[in-house]
Amino acid sequence: MSDFIPYGRQSVDEDDVRAVVGVLGADYLTTGPEVDAFERAFAQAVGAVEAVAVANGTAALHAAVNALGIGPGDEVLVPAITFAATANAVVFEGGTPVFADVDPDTLLIDVGKLAAAIGDRTRAVIAVDYAGQPCDYDALTELAGRHGLSLVADACHSLGGAWRGRAVGTLARLSTFSFHPVKPITTAEGGMITTSEPELAAAMRRFRNHGIRTGHAERAALGTWFYEMEELGFNYRLSDLHAALGRSQLAKLGGWIERRQSIAAAYDEAFADLGALAPLVRRPEADHAYHLYVVRLRTERPEEDRETLLQGLRARGIAGNVHYIPVHLHPFYRRRFGTGPGLCPVAEDAYRRIVSLPLFPAMSDGDVERVVAAVREVAAELGR
Ligand SMILES: *Cc1c(COP(=O)(O)O)cnc(C)c1O
Repeated sequence: MSDFIPYGRQSVDEDDVRAVVGVLGADYLTTGPEVDAFERAFAQAVGAVEAVAVANGTAALHAAVNALGIGPGDEVLVPAITFAATANAVVFEGGTPVFADVDPDTLLIDVGKLAAAIGDRTRAVIAVDYAGQPCDYDALTELAGRHGLSLVADACHSLGGAWRGRAVGTLARLSTFSFHPVKPITTAEGGMITTSEPELAAAMRRFRNHGIRTGHAERAALGTWFYEMEELGFNYRLSDLHAALGRSQLAKLGGWIERRQSIAAAYDEAFADLGALAPLVRRPEADHAYHLYVVRLRTERPEEDRETLLQGLRARGIAGNVHYIPVHLHPFYRRRFGTGPGLCPVAEDAYRRIVSLPLFPAMSDGDVERVVAAVREVAAELGR
């Protein structure tokens, strides 16, 4: 299996190993100095005022929704094409996700169609930087301002990207990140929220710690055992082991994004003459972080062809993937919220046509050539 090419994979080197092992002998394995150091480094890397580390990207979304005070009766707009956790975070707090259709060229939330979905109960928009391409945050900020909504960026794909030269992490009221192994940097499991509002950051630091204001290191420093729980929270803390890995990984982000962009450019060029499939569109204002390289089948029977392509890749030792089933089609959402086919037609059509090809910084040029050759071979058989 050693020459099997997955669709995504972490890069972990000796520096990372040393950073983690070093923490094992320290005083604090969790809620210690490594978490503070990772938060400061992350805030600085993206140019945010505050960064709050949490246990995973789903916890980051949950903390964001909680910090905005969203609850029963409140509606939050989310794109139909995303990982389910984006919408789930609204449900965790008792709110209602309202699924918005996507732009057919980018699969990003279609800002032009959003106004029609805004009602009296709408409180926020969670925009998703699908595949690593930042959304149009100028249009989203304008829309949110006009309707008094909070803007959240689910930036789990787009760390290292930018919109009109402004870094992801500074483009919305709250921006959330995931450090799952396939994401731009990894801590195995981990997440972060950035914001320019210290009160929101403080609320999220309590939320990740059972709703308690102080951590045990702080209490030790103050020489007190006393604490009170101010509101209901969770244990969403990131450990110092994970934080040390994150800080070590963060130092390499720039080079990794460049490698992702150059692989994407090689794919763009290699597939430019294919009729059966085409990559998603990159907007000129976007600095695309290329978490995913997604192609769309342009054939008559896309579902059959998608299976042919995925099987053809697999037979050649290459994994493709599908990101994502539209969230409103999951059984849970159909049952709980009565959603189903027809709600977001652009997303539903795109879903039948999309395949994610392997893209990660550790791919060799030979790996890229193998993927190119395999896609071209299989594409020649499609739609016949
Ligand atoms: C990965 C991801 C999440 C969830 O992150 P976890 O760390 O896996 O909990 C949320 N939203 C999007 C868009 C993601 O890709």
